[in-house]
Amino acid sequence: MVLSQLAKSIAESPTLKLNEEARLLREKGEAVIHLGAGEPKNKAPISAILGAAAKLNTGEIKYTPTDGIPSLKKAIIRYTEENYDRIVAPENVIVSAGAKQSVYNILYSIINPQDEVIILAPFWVSYPEMVKMVYGVPVIVTPEDGSFYPRMEDVMKAVSSYTRAIIVNSPNNPSGVVYPESFIAELVEYCEKKDIYVIMDDIYHKLVFDGKTAPPAYKYTKKDIESTHVIVVNGVSKLYGMTGFRIGWAIANRKLVEVMTNVQSQITSCTAVLLQAAAEGALTGLQSAVETLRMTLENNRNVMMQELLSLKGVRTTRPDGTYYCLPDFSAYMKDSVALSNLLLKRALVVAVPGKEFGMEGYLRLSYAGSIKDIKEGVERIKWALEPTAPKDIYIGERKLVRDWL
Ligand code: PMP
Ligand code: GLU
Repeated sequence: MVLSQLAKSIAESPTLKLNEEARLLREKGEAVIHLGAGEPKNKAPISAILGAAAKLNTGEIKYTPTDGIPSLKKAIIRYTEENYDRIVAPENVIVSAGAKQSVYNILYSIINPQDEVIILAPFWVSYPEMVKMVYGVPVIVTPEDGSFYPRMEDVMKAVSSYTRAIIVNSPNNPSGVVYPESFIAELVEYCEKKDIYVIMDDIYHKLVFDGKTAPPAYKYTKKDIESTHVIVVNGVSKLYGMTGFRIGWAIANRKLVEVMTNVQSQITSCTAVLLQAAAEGALTGLQSAVETLRMTLENNRNVMMQELLSLKGVRTTRPDGTYYCLPDFSAYMKDSVALSNLLLKRALVVAVPGKEFGMEGYLRLSYAGSIKDIKEGVERIKWALEPTAPKDIYIGERKLVRDWL
């Protein structure tokens, strides 16, 4: 069978793959604890459900403009004004099937073959593959000091005449850290001088803990929306726990949005009208759901940090936000894929290998689920890795036997 060399070289999303493996195990009746999922357990906000239902009731389920329904774009414009203090026009906004498609669409629209895109490790799993999918070259910058904080000097060293963009995700998936204001400020200034796009993946920007905030890149550019190199990506998936609705958006200069719209018109025509109506409902409804989710996550983060203390060999950076933390498990096992496999198959716990985020030896643990899952998940990891733990445990009737230590 003839397949494209490029398509063959693209890895499956490891997070989605693990979600599916966990689902299949659960279907078989296994009591899997999911510390892999990038989604909370909440229900969608009622305003989102009512928005979709009202549209459905009209019976007019048709194509929408490629770049999104005008009233949804209006809600996004208001969100941008309220959260970023930036006035943008409808021509600066394009709605896509999740922030995922927004990032891909941006890359497709700015990258020529062999152009380079800087990605800061630890990074979200899809960035390098997306860059490759548009014939670009991902250039990974990893902090030398073993921290999760990128340094400007390392970014500058990685820049070449081929550098077209840098992707910044702060609060960061998978580490949960928020990059310092000074880094964002310097980066924006430097990139604007060098004609490099700064793609801010802001999907977790309101899910920040301990009274902190994530510095918005727009604050550090003196340029207006038509000339700034800052592009902002956001969406309803993480903000409202509306992952299945698949609505995200990008804010950029109108020339770029026009090109992205042309591209999207040839691929998906537009995103589903019902889901756009739901996103509009979420954005225009009561915003208390966001604060409730943020507080739940902060509390869950605290529990996760506390539980991880019981794993003697594990070092963890305390997350400032997101759904995740990225503890270092290398004292137990250096190969994170093997460790993730062992935990899934033998201890029935889902944890994403750090290797997929550019951090071998680490595991990404999600605290977006329930407190019970966090406690039981860490307990099972401890059982799997600590030689002093009992040799076997019971999960209901099911006996798990540890025969690898
Ligand atoms: N960026 C990051 C950093 C993510 O973690 C995710 C995963 N949801 C996305 C983008 C894509 O989100 P969406 O569901 O809106 O496609
Ligand atoms: N972003 C989520 C995660 O990192 C969802 C999965 C995905 O889109 O890859 O787990």
